[in-house]
Amino acid sequence: MSYSWFDFCRASKGLLYWVLAVCCVIFSAQTVHAIEPIPVPPDIDALELTDSVDLYREAVPRLQVSTAPGADGIVRRIEVPSRDGSSRSWTVFALANTSDEQVDRLLVAPFFRLVGSKLFWPELGSSRIVAITPSQGLAPVREHSLEADVFLITLDPGAIVTFVAELNSPDLPQLRLWKPEVYKETINGYTLYRGIILGISGLLALFLTILFVVKGTVMFPATAALAWSVLAYLCIDFGFWSLLFKLEHGGEPLYRASAEVMLTSSLIIFLYAYLNLNRWNIHYSHLALTSLVLLLGLLGVAVWDPSVAAGIARLAMGIIGILGFVTILVLAWQGYDRAILLIPSWFLLLAWLIGAAMTVTGTLANDIVQPALGGGLVLIVLLIGFTVMQHAFAGGAIAQGLISDVERRALALTGAGDIIWDWDIDRDRIFTGNEVEDLLNLRRGTLEGPARDWLDVLHPQDRDRFRATLDAVIDKRGGKIVQTFRLRSEDGHFRWFRLRARPIVGADGEVIRCVGTLLDVTEERTAEERLLHDAVHDNLTGLPNRELFMDRLRTAVIQTNAEQSGVKPTVIMLNLDRFKQVNDSIGISAGDSILLTVARRLGRLIGRQDTLARLNGDLYGLVVLSEKEPDRVVALADSLRKAVRSPITFGEREIFLTCSAGIALFEGGKQDVEDLMANAEIALNHARRLGGDRQEVFRPILRPLGKNVVDLEADLREAIKKENLGVFYQPIVRLENQSVAGFEVLARWKHPKRGQISPSEFIPIAEQSGLIHELGMYMLEKGAHQLAYWQREMKTSTPLFVSVNLSSRQLLNHDLINDVKAVLSRSSVAPGTLKLELTESLVMSNPEYSVKVLERLRGLGAGLSIDDFGTGHSSLSYLQRFPFDTLKIDQSFVKPSADSSRSILLRTIVAMGHDLGMSIVAEGAESEDEALELYQLGCEYAQGFFFGQAVSSDEATKTLRKMPKEEAVS
Ligand code: C2E
Ligand code: CA
Ligand code: CA
Repeated sequence: MSYSWFDFCRASKGLLYWVLAVCCVIFSAQTVHAIEPIPVPPDIDALELTDSVDLYREAVPRLQVSTAPGADGIVRRIEVPSRDGSSRSWTVFALANTSDEQVDRLLVAPFFRLVGSKLFWPELGSSRIVAITPSQGLAPVREHSLEADVFLITLDPGAIVTFVAELNSPDLPQLRLWKPEVYKETINGYTLYRGIILGISGLLALFLTILFVVKGTVMFPATAALAWSVLAYLCIDFGFWSLLFKLEHGGEPLYRASAEVMLTSSLIIFLYAYLNLNRWNIHYSHLALTSLVLLLGLLGVAVWDPSVAAGIARLAMGIIGILGFVTILVLAWQGYDRAILLIPSWFLLLAWLIGAAMTVTGTLANDIVQPALGGGLVLIVLLIGFTVMQHAFAGGAIAQGLISDVERRALALTGAGDIIWDWDIDRDRIFTGNEVEDLLNLRRGTLEGPARDWLDVLHPQDRDRFRATLDAVIDKRGGKIVQTFRLRSEDGHFRWFRLRARPIVGADGEVIRCVGTLLDVTEERTAEERLLHDAVHDNLTGLPNRELFMDRLRTAVIQTNAEQSGVKPTVIMLNLDRFKQVNDSIGISAGDSILLTVARRLGRLIGRQDTLARLNGDLYGLVVLSEKEPDRVVALADSLRKAVRSPITFGEREIFLTCSAGIALFEGGKQDVEDLMANAEIALNHARRLGGDRQEVFRPILRPLGKNVVDLEADLREAIKKENLGVFYQPIVRLENQSVAGFEVLARWKHPKRGQISPSEFIPIAEQSGLIHELGMYMLEKGAHQLAYWQREMKTSTPLFVSVNLSSRQLLNHDLINDVKAVLSRSSVAPGTLKLELTESLVMSNPEYSVKVLERLRGLGAGLSIDDFGTGHSSLSYLQRFPFDTLKIDQSFVKPSADSSRSILLRTIVAMGHDLGMSIVAEGAESEDEALELYQLGCEYAQGFFFGQAVSSDEATKTLRKMPKEEAVS
């Protein structure tokens, strides 16, 4: 019914405007026109006037209007001034009482309506109507109300009254005509609802606040803040705020805007605190803080213009709703359970936001939507509150901080990852967590049972200790068990465990159980072992490092000195030649794999007692105990070098490496480990200096290096001058009857500091320094003198001879002939018995000259021997040009070898030597067999250790004297 009225009113309004326009033209006055009365049917509870009234938004101090035609049909003109004379907006409407009774109606203009309040710069409400002036009768009476301007209007039967209302604001969101009793009922109904909603909201806020005090988790104050904001909002929205604080009109928009800002802010705080966003990314903190500051700044804006602040807050709330939802979904997707739990609440919030948006834009427009939204807000906070509580209490009693000491200990045990070990002694049952069985891959229950069951799983070496410890604890009725042992896993590997337990003594003083923890310490153990290993091993090759090497060497030396067991340590140092260049050209990692390969190859060749170590870089060290004969050691070094020499394939290329070796033999005495190492290094350096790819055994002569050679030279000069140089005689024996036929004179030098120095060491020095002339003459003179003595004293059928070595430098010396001549003339020896030994290569280097010199020497009466025959490259036929009378076959031909061609070679040399008229001396005969073989091959003479080493002249004399007379004479 009423709608048809409205329709009618609307239609008439269009007409009205048209009439108004016409009137304006006629009266050339804007405010004067007649209006259509709105009938007030008696049976309608609420008559909607909002759209039926004339609204004069333009503020004027007074309004002139034509009234609706009264019952008498007369249109009057009235003029209404504003109360205080200021310019106002106005509204004009006419009501007609069509019934025959007097009607009382309440004209209600609410201060604020959410519906249609707009999203941007919303209308936040204010007092609407200042006063109403009727065209006739009594002025409407204002009724007391906190949320609307309410006027009681009384219409006499049949009366048509025009009302001019002076407005407070240019907008009139709603204007209704209520039956007084219905209006009061409605208000009462809402009041009840609001009370309930506010009550719930207040309780919720209070409850969450109390929870915060109790729990102290940051999410509670955040949720409480949200709840309080909602409460504040509702208080304002429901008009309780002004009731509480007795506010005068006009302040409301500020409070409303502030409430909306607070609501939005608390939503951000809540989301941030609840989701713990600062934990995920610091940016969230910045974002939250900035938006919060901005929103709180809005409070300031609200003071200046509540509408602007509220608009921004509403917009912000929408954005937060959406962004928050996205964040929650993302975090939920990542499995963050707080986010998952928040989804329903936030979903509801989103729905609420949509509803609110529809409401404020006017899409949703009815009377219950505003209180319903208020209720919805409480519902959301309720749901959030539940979520938060559920979450906070999800940790159970433990999380509450109030736990007993026993519980705390139990928890600590769980936290530490220790396994419980409990032995009930009376029942003899061990209980232990399943973790042990899981670790060992054992069947469940294997370790649960009598203590003796454990013995099967324990490492054999740990069994007795385990048993003894348990027994001891029971016997002593105290103490504690701290033990590390190994348990066998299903696949036969052992894991290490550390048991720490204490006995518990019962009332009778007996131990009733042992309780403690078991911890898997396998990793610790292996780490320890690895540390120990790493400390003494090279981390690239896994070989012992220098420390371990030195330690082994020290032990070996000590053992050798103490036990006289015959084991003698030898140190071999091996260094790769040119390794630095190789490393530079193919890269360090390739270099590393070469070092590794070399280590493996060397390792394969050494004995079990020997130690191979990587001393540093490309320097390897060996302590050899498996061989003690120098020759064998040298042979080992040789095979090591050969092993290195075979090509190393690296990727697609083959690398050829050689190495040098220095060998230091242990000589006993005061020699210590450092000496051995230093000697090996000296020998190694010597080998490298000689071009590498060779090995050198340490000899004292090697020790002086660089400037020390000069000292040695001076020492040698001194020795010759002071006649300290030893002149030794090695017998040369007739093979047919093993009688001494003569001697080779060999120089011997015992250096006062460096000990015995071999001729092969000092002869080159003498040659280089020119000392060889003095040395040679000295030897010649001593030898000749001695020979003369023997020839005088010992009567032999064939005269004894003496062979003196001649160096190349001596041959080139022009004084040689004269010197030899002088010696021969002075000593009066039998012709040809003082022989001069010259090496093959020496003669061959300048054959023309040599022939001349040799012939002159021969002419002086000196014998001539060709020494070390076979080591050079000359042929025998060539030699026939030289006037040699004796040929000395080099020891390398004499030494027995597997080579079958040796004897043929020897036989040929002997035969051809004989053909050339030379007597043959074989050098280096070291055994009877060799001597016999040489004899059978046709050699007349032999020289070698089998017949005697070089000895002093006195000893040589003794040997001569001991010779059986007939032999010596024959
Ligand atoms: P060499 O002339 O060939 O002398 C023989 C060397 O062989 C000696 O070494 C001798 O001790 C060693 N010898 C003898 N019998 C045996 C044996 O059965 N087995 C082995 N393995 N070796 C044996 P030594 O005395 O060390 O002399 C080394 C070289 O020094 C000599 O070789 C000689 O060339 C040179 N030399 C020694 N004394 C003199 C000297 O007074 N003047 C010159 N110019 N050179 C000398
Ligand atoms: Ca010789
Ligand atoms: Ca020789």
